[in-house]
Amino acid sequence: MSEVLLLWFGQKRPAADLLEGVRRSVEREFDRAVRVGLSPERPEDAFDARRGQHSSTRILAWLKDRHEGAHRVLGVTDADLFIPILTFVFGEAQLSGRAAVVSTARLGDTPLIPGEAARIALRLQKEAVHELGHTFGLLHCADARCAMARSPSLRHVDAKSPVLCRACRARTRELSENGDVHEQEEHANPDRR
Ligand SMILES: [Zn+2]
Ligand SMILES: [Zn+2]
Repeated sequence: MSEVLLLWFGQKRPAADLLEGVRRSVEREFDRAVRVGLSPERPEDAFDARRGQHSSTRILAWLKDRHEGAHRVLGVTDADLFIPILTFVFGEAQLSGRAAVVSTARLGDTPLIPGEAARIALRLQKEAVHELGHTFGLLHCADARCAMARSPSLRHVDAKSPVLCRACRARTRELSENGDVHEQEEHANPDRR
């Protein structure tokens, strides 16, 4: 049951290899089997017409019910995500919870220029490892190269790697030995700072 479900629920179909890159990164960093799925359903109440964006918090609640027996669910979408106090977010996660979400919407221009699709795919891998790291209980890391470094802008995303530093990796092992999902801690989301 330690599987991670990687669930695409975008408005368009995902670009070739986009999900495969995320799957490989997640599998490598967390030593978990990753199953890829395409959701036929969409989160209905997540769209905020006034902002023209999707509430990432409402999406997390929706995803939590769609883990289909997997240990964690990582939603991947092309929908533009927000939390009320910020213009946008690249993603959000339930700290030590079950669900995380990441979006490609702010990770680059529509892939028309050469190399842009690959650039977006790499940035998505970094943010996917980051948000999933929060579900495993990891907090933000001071090492700017670590996937758990805070990334409020693309400059920060580009400065980091899709890999956890040694300290975060050790911490992940420690946390997964100490148990499982702690639903009561979900409110404490470090990405809201
Ligand atoms: Zn780190
Ligand atoms: Zn974070």
